[in-house]
Amino acid sequence: MTMLAALLSGCANKAIKTISADEFAEVMTQKDARLIDVRTPEEYAEGHLAGAENIDVKATDFAERIKDIRDTVAVYCRGGKRSLTAAVQFAANGCTVYNLDGGIMAWQKAGKPTTAVETDNFTTKGSELVKIHALMHSSIRIEYNGRNIYIDPCSNLRGRTVNYSAMPKADIIMVTHEHFDHYDTAAIRQLTADGTQLIMNPRCVKMYGAGTAMTNGDRQQLADGITLEAVPAYNITEEHLQFHPKGRDNGYILTLDGLRIYIAGDTEDSPEMADIKDIDIAFLPCNQPYTMTPEQLVRAAKMVNPKVLFPYHYGETDVTTISAQLPSIDVRIRHYE
Ligand code: ZN
Ligand code: ZN
Repeated sequence: MTMLAALLSGCANKAIKTISADEFAEVMTQKDARLIDVRTPEEYAEGHLAGAENIDVKATDFAERIKDIRDTVAVYCRGGKRSLTAAVQFAANGCTVYNLDGGIMAWQKAGKPTTAVETDNFTTKGSELVKIHALMHSSIRIEYNGRNIYIDPCSNLRGRTVNYSAMPKADIIMVTHEHFDHYDTAAIRQLTADGTQLIMNPRCVKMYGAGTAMTNGDRQQLADGITLEAVPAYNITEEHLQFHPKGRDNGYILTLDGLRIYIAGDTEDSPEMADIKDIDIAFLPCNQPYTMTPEQLVRAAKMVNPKVLFPYHYGETDVTTISAQLPSIDVRIRHYE
């Protein structure tokens, strides 16, 4: 059905309910609606409703991306125009659609919360700026000296999406292991340009048919001032050994002009962590049964003793209690669910 036909069709219009911010908030809590932000990825990055996925209605692939969506959806844009256009197309698909009247502007005017892609700034020994962008779960983007480094870029997880086609191409992509929440070939392809260095564990290199394999203990210089070391990441709890067997997957220590960043990957508090020294920033995972409990994370953090700790890969685990147990570490909770 064309958009005009859908607009004229009473059936499609009946499927669209344009509602106030208060009603929209109620829909989000009471109905099993899929929350979709139809603005550009740039607008989305600046602030969006928690849990919203981003599908840009003005993008050429919009129709393609929504073609299989039949659920109840709740859509919004900046002021309400673009979301109505999107609502018509969702309705034509057979969706029941709730459309936020007045968009995110009305939402904010009503005093309701939004969240943004969170960025933390650090400086290297030589006073270069390092920006760390929290994408989601175990997906991290690091900007340093005009370079873009992506770790475990993943496009889609439990209703959250990251649009890599709207982000700068990667100079370096690092993948820890082949699980779907870490190794996403579509994201890798979207980020790859001429000259992108793709570093993965041996199994991912084999599966992808490209890239440079690093195995536990390997070190290499990737560029001026950028070195990478692969370190062990594995389960130590008897009944969890099969998730991440020892020697298969990588954690990484990325050093940017002296600033040492430890990205642990999917691991528990293995004895090798005690050998990891002089870490400025650490990413440690926290979800059961695949990685660590909060208690294990605290033990791991005490071994590694970073200046700044980002709990990541934490899913639905409550990580807010960690900070109080690590008084000498700057614990920062970002949207790494
Ligand atoms: Zn895993
Ligand atoms: Zn994982």
